[in-house]
Amino acid sequence: MLEKGVRISVVIPVYNESGNIEELYGRLKKAGQSFPNPFETIFINDGSVDDSLGVMNKLASSDRNVKVIDLSRNFGHQAAIKAGLGFVSGDAAIIMDADLQDPPELIKELAEKWSNGHQVVYAVRKTRKEGALLRFLYFSFYRLLKIISKIEIPLDAGDFCLIDRKIVDILVTMPEKDPFLRGLRSWVGYSQVGVEYDRKERHSGKSKYNFFRLFKLALDGILSFSNIPLRLAAFLGFAVSGISIVQIIMLLIKRLPVPGTTAIAIIVLFIGGVQLISIGIIGEYLGRIYEESKNRPLFIIKNKTNL
Ligand code: UDP
Ligand code: MG
Repeated sequence: MLEKGVRISVVIPVYNESGNIEELYGRLKKAGQSFPNPFETIFINDGSVDDSLGVMNKLASSDRNVKVIDLSRNFGHQAAIKAGLGFVSGDAAIIMDADLQDPPELIKELAEKWSNGHQVVYAVRKTRKEGALLRFLYFSFYRLLKIISKIEIPLDAGDFCLIDRKIVDILVTMPEKDPFLRGLRSWVGYSQVGVEYDRKERHSGKSKYNFFRLFKLALDGILSFSNIPLRLAAFLGFAVSGISIVQIIMLLIKRLPVPGTTAIAIIVLFIGGVQLISIGIIGEYLGRIYEESKNRPLFIIKNKTNL
């Protein structure tokens, strides 16, 4: 049971979701009725070009518990969440998408686990509605991340979660420029537990993550939680030089016939490929170091309502 004064804040990044906001607000309000206090709902408008801001401002004008942070342009899903976390006034924060893929009705279950003493309660996607290829890619990504990351990141857990105020305060101070929040959330430690749910289809509109954006998010996850790709580059280098040294020795000892031009071309291409891959991997890390060193803010707030 939650104590009387307890307040939950819900952080929702919004990018062109005008068809979802009112429905989401209605369902959140209903879900909030079984809590001691109404939810504080923090919408972050991440540079929407549709009427999302208008819809949110309308809700904010009739309900003071609805707060709107309007960013100066589209800064991306993860940056928008971080912007919202900075304004959480409740004892715990829920992070959820605006498209109703994350059901507001699950908040009750998340809050129960929290009141049992867990500081992070993440929602685990038991089933998904996406196409077979995307499901396969998600499945493989989370398993690969688990194998190579330095910390224990739970499988199939997205951003939908409840985090205690303590964790909110820690996440807000993390200055990373390419934050992978579901990883950082694990990184902080404390007591963490998962709750399973069936991930629904979008209520309205299309996913804002095309293949390249998803790929970027996946790279953020892997590169910010693992150095193994860098080691892989070195490992490939050692393996290729090892093979060639053995071949040289064999050539000298056994006087093997010198391979023809095709064989040479294949070898050159192979080594060239390995070198390019390795440079690419180093480049990915270097690019991120460059982003960090520029030290630009992760987002800019243009306007705030009810805050
Ligand atoms: N989103 C955002 N900024 C972006 C992309 C997405 O704030 O640049 C929001 C979007 O409005 C939604 C959430 O992030 O509330 C998740 O996006 P989406 O549903 O498109 O991702 P998917 O569920 O398909 O992975
Ligand atoms: Mg979605």
